[in-house]
Amino acid sequence: MRIVLLGAPGSGKGTQAQRLMAEYGIPQISTGDLLRQAVASGSELGLKAKAAMDKGELVADSVVIGMIRARITEQDAQAGFIFDGFPRNLAQASALDDLLDDIGKPLASAVLMDVDHGVLLKRLSGRRTCKACDKVANVHQPDFDARELCEVTGQPHDYFQRTDDNEETIAKRLEVYAAQTEPLVEYYHRQGKLVSVDADGGIDEVYGRLVSAIETLERDGIATAMTVEIDAPDP
Ligand code: AMP
Repeated sequence: MRIVLLGAPGSGKGTQAQRLMAEYGIPQISTGDLLRQAVASGSELGLKAKAAMDKGELVADSVVIGMIRARITEQDAQAGFIFDGFPRNLAQASALDDLLDDIGKPLASAVLMDVDHGVLLKRLSGRRTCKACDKVANVHQPDFDARELCEVTGQPHDYFQRTDDNEETIAKRLEVYAAQTEPLVEYYHRQGKLVSVDADGGIDEVYGRLVSAIETLERDGIATAMTVEIDAPDP
């Protein structure tokens, strides 16, 4: 399976990619996570990335494409991968196509996690990450359990809020998504690779839809899995 999870910040890409990774045994490749690791390491690349990330802007294409080029050659990525948060603009999408063509492993599909704007804001403001195991949870989810135990420490999760999940940066990230990333919906639609999943709902419910879309894709091919209507009028 080689897929891109497309969707606005807060659409649940990271949460769902973690579950897909556990179920299908292929890595989630998140440029956001790779960049946060670079920031935490204090490297020169991390320092440069941090400035853009704190403002909600995109990190330079050359940096993220370089990270992806290295990551897809690692052993665990040979059976497939789930891209989460990459590509983020047309230049990255086109560079990814070239990279995958070079190794003869084109993308199977881009799966769009489709969610209303209001839901995104709520999800982003309630998002928390465990310091020890990286589990992402949301304090606004009805099933959020602050006492749940972390598999690394055996203690309740030690949750923190990402520094870019504040109101101002959230607004900027959504603006950047609309201007730079949303055109990828049409890009993949034109390639005949876009599958759309309704990502509004509980984590399990959305995961069920995602797995059913992916299994249709694997079993019957992209033509059957493709259900999206581009530019469909709002109801
Ligand atoms: P994310 O965790 O995917 O929400 O990403 C957090 C931040 O990392 C974004 O707001 C960007 O500043 C940066 N970032 C993540 N992925 C990319 C990418 N593919 N291209 C450029 N910047 C990125």
